[in-house]
Amino acid sequence: MSSSSQSLFATALQQLEEARRWVQVSNEAIECLKSLSMLLEVSVPLRKDDGSLELLHAYRVRHSDLRGPGKGGVRYHPQVDLDEVKALAFWMTMKCAVIDVPFGGAKGGVQVDPKRLSHLELERLSRGFIKAIAGAIGPNQDIPAPDLYTNATIMGWMSDEYSRIRREKLPAAVTGKPLALGGSLGREEATGLGASYVVNRLAAKFGWDPAQISVAVQGFGNAGYHVAHFLHQQGFKIVALSDSQGGIFNSAGLDPDPIKENKEATRQLKNIYCDRSICEERECEKISNEELLELEVDLLIPAALESQITQANAHKLKAKNIVEVANGPISAEADMILEERGIAVLPDILVNAGGVTVSYFEWVQNRAGYYWSLEEVYSKLKLKMDAAFEQVYQIAQQQKISYRKAAFVLGLKRLAEAYEATGSQEYFMQKS
Ligand code: NAD
Repeated sequence: MSSSSQSLFATALQQLEEARRWVQVSNEAIECLKSLSMLLEVSVPLRKDDGSLELLHAYRVRHSDLRGPGKGGVRYHPQVDLDEVKALAFWMTMKCAVIDVPFGGAKGGVQVDPKRLSHLELERLSRGFIKAIAGAIGPNQDIPAPDLYTNATIMGWMSDEYSRIRREKLPAAVTGKPLALGGSLGREEATGLGASYVVNRLAAKFGWDPAQISVAVQGFGNAGYHVAHFLHQQGFKIVALSDSQGGIFNSAGLDPDPIKENKEATRQLKNIYCDRSICEERECEKISNEELLELEVDLLIPAALESQITQANAHKLKAKNIVEVANGPISAEADMILEERGIAVLPDILVNAGGVTVSYFEWVQNRAGYYWSLEEVYSKLKLKMDAAFEQVYQIAQQQKISYRKAAFVLGLKRLAEAYEATGSQEYFMQKS
């Protein structure tokens, strides 16, 4: 799905190479992290409502299970491709290590435009995808979750299908489920809430007054809406929002909640997706997604797709800081331009780790058969996000490197430790 000249997986491996310069890691561990544990490329047969059959390309990639079973979302998008899924699986490995949850990294995707499917077609597709990959997933192997254009309803179908195939209830095989099927309180808002905790830590470090901090958010889905909602609640000034149709701007500030309600109330429902754009809000200046990215704001939050900031627009950005809620929104080339320009980037593998953290909590609750209160989930999430932020911040300060490199250093250290513990060349040489 990359619009950059470089493949996304190549970007991910370039980040790994960059980071290894700042941390002691064996060549073996690096080679291991450059390869994949498992790659499944499947055709998912979809029987349409009119009786016709469509065969859809789909993937499940497990990048690493060094620190635990693979963990990662499933996305439905017409431009899903293998390169993107591999890169996203790699970033999940890094993210789980940075936030310190006992998982490896995985990702899945179906090349489909979900907005043109009926509710029943979506259900058949979701069950069909699980049938196709059932042998490769499970609570101790690889645990799917929601991502772009997938949600709790879809995870519920996937979880149910998996339990039917295995002929036993295995709720821990899929996370992000509806509460009624063993989901966790707080999972839906976890990514945005976690990102808001990171922003608050940053604000505390620099002594910012939230009311003076302007924020532009690209993407108004699960991650984008929730980060805007929590930052607004915490007193930050949201000046711009956008979805796939375009954006709105108001220098006096926007309240994301009525905008979301309006979008939901007035949309023409096309199956379970919203067909109406938030740019139909009145009393706001309409802007394009490109214009939103170039606004002069304190915080720019890409929360939609990857490769939104590339060589083509990195030099035009006027934001002081970028907080990556989407996965991979900045290409490797753009990252270097932003670093040279002194624009701080809080990286995806730290910022959006709230989602996988509460997915981990859901997995723990499913396995224990004991469920936590919302307060417990929020406070445990805050502890995790704050600890990871502080560790990344300290590494960045001590080694005088970007937050992205610092997050990679932290993740790499933990992965290398796990690798050494399984027995490396150094280990065997010492023993003989
Ligand atoms: P979503 O499907 O709920 O929402 C996607 C949003 O992006 C929608 O508002 C859509 O209109 C908007 N969008 C699509 N194309 C766009 C474009 N070209 N320009 C601007 N906006 C566009 O998806 P989500 O779950 O919110 O995921 C968004 C990003 O966050 C993805 O990169 C995803 O990998 C990442 N992420 C999500 C989670 C999670 O828990 N949902 C966790 C970690 C990372």
